[in-house]
Amino acid sequence: MSILIQHTTAITLDAEDRVLEDVDILIEGKTISALGTALPRPADAEIIDGRERVALPGFFNAHTHAAMTLERGWAEDLPFDRWLNEKIWVAESAMEAEDVYWGAALACCEMLRSGTVAFADHYFWMDNVARAVEEAGMKANLAWCQFGLGLEQEVGGVSLDETIAFVRRWHGAAEGRIRCVLGPHSPYMCPPDFLRRVADAAAALDVGVHLHVAESDEQVANSLTAHGKTPVAHLAALGLFDRPTIAAHCIAVNDADIAILAEKGVHVAHTPKTYLKLAMGMASLPRLLTGGVSVALGTDGPASNSDLNMLEVLRLTGLYHKNALRRPEAFPRTQILRLATQAGAEAMGFSGSGVLAPGRPADLILLDTQSPHWFPRHDLAAGVVYTSHPSDVSHVIVDGRLLLRDGELLTLDEERIRYEAERRAFRMVGAPMRPMRRYRG
Ligand SMILES: [Zn+2]
Repeated sequence: MSILIQHTTAITLDAEDRVLEDVDILIEGKTISALGTALPRPADAEIIDGRERVALPGFFNAHTHAAMTLERGWAEDLPFDRWLNEKIWVAESAMEAEDVYWGAALACCEMLRSGTVAFADHYFWMDNVARAVEEAGMKANLAWCQFGLGLEQEVGGVSLDETIAFVRRWHGAAEGRIRCVLGPHSPYMCPPDFLRRVADAAAALDVGVHLHVAESDEQVANSLTAHGKTPVAHLAALGLFDRPTIAAHCIAVNDADIAILAEKGVHVAHTPKTYLKLAMGMASLPRLLTGGVSVALGTDGPASNSDLNMLEVLRLTGLYHKNALRRPEAFPRTQILRLATQAGAEAMGFSGSGVLAPGRPADLILLDTQSPHWFPRHDLAAGVVYTSHPSDVSHVIVDGRLLLRDGELLTLDEERIRYEAERRAFRMVGAPMRPMRRYRG
């Protein structure tokens, strides 16, 4: 099966940052095989009319908790500690394994509809997220979240060994679209000996880790008291960063921490909407990038940031950091697009994606540019970052397969998913709930 997109405008994000007008894109198998004018049409090709559309690499959401769609709107206008202790970690005590499937399936619908092709997920009962990803046709990097505080404090009472078995079951599954890593929650929740066991297990499995790091000054102060080290230095000393790592947030980091993150090749996931909504302060994206750290963009879970819309993350990244620096020329639009595509693909282990060029994986999207907010179409990259709407996303292709065609989801039964997810979300918060563990900073 092949796909030929004709007469489109392509934001390639290649080394020269080329935007090509009136080009065809030929996809054969899982790969972009040609990009050029008037490409010959293979007999079996599905033709997509690319006129009035812009093609670009799809988004890689580098940190989320997809099934937290079930808790969207459930914990509003609260400080971070009360958000966790009184709402999120309580509701999750009433969560059942099958809920995670429906929450993740809802997330896949939302992500595809806003141009996301892959996501790094950190949650519970991850076999059910893997099932949703396999059915949706997306790519994902999946981590089963663990606290290491005793089985009674783990969602579902699941042990580290069981999450290791999950990695063995699913790493490389769905024709390589699913990658798995280990998912300790954070250095502030997980005891050091547990984190050391995770590092050893990740090395034995030859996989990475994904965790939350340095979200507040309070966490740093507590880490210095408990371990004599910042959270970043503590994790480095425990060997976590010797594995490929996605470190979500890194808001409270000093220059020495940044040097460690750069030296160890840690991928920091930057999720500005959550920082703004939970009033956590803002991770310094300019300092991280200047310090040589690889940074990718993410939404975080919809319980904190309320959606899974990477277009909004692009926009907030540009708006916030330009203003913070008082430098409108900072973070040019294609740099922001690279953080949301190539950098995320790299962080998730799908390197090669994030560029429209022959030989690259066919993970791309088309946006319809006919709505009034696109006119006049001087600069389509600026249009994607600062004016597009999720409803402009008309087509999504992952690994050469169409998952969204003319706004229609081809792999997911959206009506049933919406119904099941809402029914289960209401059941969860109506069921007897109990506090499972306590956040102390
Ligand atoms: Zn998170």
